Amino acid sequence: MTKTAVTYSFRESLSMPHQELQKRAQQFAEEVLMPYELQCEENNGLDRESLQTINQAVMDWGFNAINHSKEDGGQGLTIFEQMIVNEQLGKVTNAIWDTVFQPAFPMQFGTKQQKEEYLIPTNQGKRRDAYAITEEKAGSDPQQCLTRADRVDGGYRINGEKWFVTVGDVADYLLVHAHVDGKPELATVFFVDKDLPGVKVKRTPLYTHNFVYEHPEFIFEDVFVDDSKVLGQVGEGYDLTKDWFVEARLGIAARCIGAAIRATETANDFAANRTQFGKSIRDFQAIEFKLADMAVDIMAAKSMLYRVCWDISESKDRKVNHARAAALKLYCSEMAGRVCDEAVQILGGRGYMRENPVERLWRDVRVDRIWEGTSEIQRVIIGGQIKKRGLGLYVD
Ligand SMILES: Cc1cc2nc3c(=O)[nH]c(=O)nc-3n(C[C@H](O)[C@H](O)[C@H](O)COP(=O)(O)OP(=O)(O)OC[C@H]3O[C@@H](n4cnc5c(N)ncnc54)[C@H](O)[C@@H]3O)c2cc1C
Repeated sequence: MTKTAVTYSFRESLSMPHQELQKRAQQFAEEVLMPYELQCEENNGLDRESLQTINQAVMDWGFNAINHSKEDGGQGLTIFEQMIVNEQLGKVTNAIWDTVFQPAFPMQFGTKQQKEEYLIPTNQGKRRDAYAITEEKAGSDPQQCLTRADRVDGGYRINGEKWFVTVGDVADYLLVHAHVDGKPELATVFFVDKDLPGVKVKRTPLYTHNFVYEHPEFIFEDVFVDDSKVLGQVGEGYDLTKDWFVEARLGIAARCIGAAIRATETANDFAANRTQFGKSIRDFQAIEFKLADMAVDIMAAKSMLYRVCWDISESKDRKVNHARAAALKLYCSEMAGRVCDEAVQILGGRGYMRENPVERLWRDVRVDRIWEGTSEIQRVIIGGQIKKRGLGLYVD
């Protein structure tokens, strides 16, 4: 009788090159990024020197622009491979994973000149982008965007305001979503250099997490950009932004798995070693059942993530990918919220200390149910897809 190989872990079912990629990403997260966590927590960010050291390490380890082609100076990883890396990066607190820059995916549709000026130097760690869609009155409903780009001789004059611009403090240019001549049907994405006259930071609010970068609000007052600064076509803004959402949502889902795994590993170790009432707390069924539920939650989310990312790596159907990425983002972000919360509970008072990674992960993953489309908006997308295409997309 031939013995069939039995795989005991997700890792063992990966190909050798994928196992190696995973190992390298894990090593990078643990050896390069995690040592900065407490510094980042205490200072709500990292100093310039530390950021430069990390930037160099990202380049040296070959983790720069994993989401862009080699031709454009990136690493050319498939969606599945990007997921392998992002899962490991998600274990790092304070969003230090964001130093492992993955420049906005829609820039791949830029012109040769735009690639030379923006994409290639960004992929090589010399420039940094930030994506600006949200406004005071345009959140879940970006059609309410009031930022306008009025056509003038040789280009456009941009006026408006953008909120929550992640990495806006260190980025040197922004991808700004604006309505040409105030018309939503002419939504367009523009490259806007931050040092242009009329670009101002309005405010830099504080948030629940102590993130490695800031999320400032920007004002644009009569900012002139010439015709060459349009990304893609005039009127293509929503399609490009949707592409960005798909990639960003897959990244969130993968990082949520990493965060949940680290929180569960920490809770499991603690439960084994903490003694109360004369026995290890893991021997109380109340704690053991929590660990069981956390493991199953991760397993379900991870199975979904690996399957869908594998399919998306093979599929070029933008609409199907958008529909499935919404389901992944929804499920994985809600799972991470549940699991990190239980991890805090298992650690008791220690779980509430900021010096403890589970406390930071618990705070960090809260935003994953809000940004790149709230959980409610993911359900709106999924519900709409079911109505339009039937359940098959999700259940067949
Ligand atoms: C830390 C952080 C970083 C961010 N980074 C960026 C960035 O880099 N670039 C960027 O452009 N944006 C960014 N955002 C903005 C983020 O994407 C928005 O906050 C998010 O899309 C929700 O918009 P809103 O905050 O205006 O909430 P609203 O749209 O006002 O929603 C408020 C509530 O109403 C619910 N709701 C709204 N519409 C519906 C509906 N149709 N059905 C059911 N419920 C609904 C929402 O789910 C939510 O619970 C960031 C946000 C945060 C917090």
